[in-house]
Amino acid sequence: MINIERYEGTEANVNSYLLSDDENTILVDVLRNSVEAEGLADHIEKDGKKLNCIFITHGHADHYMGLGALLRRFPNVPVKVATTAIKDDLIGFSQWMESVGWLENEPQMKVKTPENPAGFDYVNLVSVIDEPFLKLPLEANRIHVHADYPGNECGHITTLTIPEQKAFLASDLLYDKVHAWCGPGTNRQEIHQWINILDETLEMKDADKWTFYAGHGQSGDQTLVTNMKGYLQQFLDITESEKTQQGAMDRLIDAFPGFAQEDFLLIHSVNYHVKEST
Ligand SMILES: [Zn+2]
Repeated sequence: MINIERYEGTEANVNSYLLSDDENTILVDVLRNSVEAEGLADHIEKDGKKLNCIFITHGHADHYMGLGALLRRFPNVPVKVATTAIKDDLIGFSQWMESVGWLENEPQMKVKTPENPAGFDYVNLVSVIDEPFLKLPLEANRIHVHADYPGNECGHITTLTIPEQKAFLASDLLYDKVHAWCGPGTNRQEIHQWINILDETLEMKDADKWTFYAGHGQSGDQTLVTNMKGYLQQFLDITESEKTQQGAMDRLIDAFPGFAQEDFLLIHSVNYHVKEST
């Protein structure tokens, strides 16, 4: 039995997951900033198990900004992604963040170049898996890696499943009580594709018996998937019918009371989808 532990970050309400057998751990995603990643490293150290590998599900900053801090604490641990496209996303996103000044607090996560030798060596430190599984040494159950999705919350995303345990780690296909990212990079067609992926997930055999682990927020049963579909449908409806960004904000906050991230994830998503005519 693979143990699945959620480690909740504060910034962006993003989750990391620790998948472990009795002696070893695979860390999935590493939080939005170095300070919180240090706390995560402390947690892993205290746990006393060997960190075998760090796996990053997709190239959004909230899932990999902690890499520098984790690798300082666990220097030889391999960092893995599912596909070359995702590796390229990490590099591209970091280059973009640097270009808009968003990496000044995380300079060690700028891309290493001849001009910036102190930067993070994504090219050599991040490797692409060569089989669609992750394995823990003492555990027979394999962790299946799925990355053949059309663009959705991100252009390229990875989910993990442990079929024997009916565990589905959905990364950012699922948010629970957190406003979802539908900002730049996530257009209406991609939101429709995202809804289709959720539909297919619900049609999976015995979907009602699986546990779903969200990229942001709590885990739960298939209700999480149904709720996510409802959220995206309402997001599409409201941002299509409202003429002002404030109007759309108000209606989405009303429709989803108590959801986290209205001042970042929601505002960027609304502003991207509601273009006010001047
Ligand atoms: Zn995320």
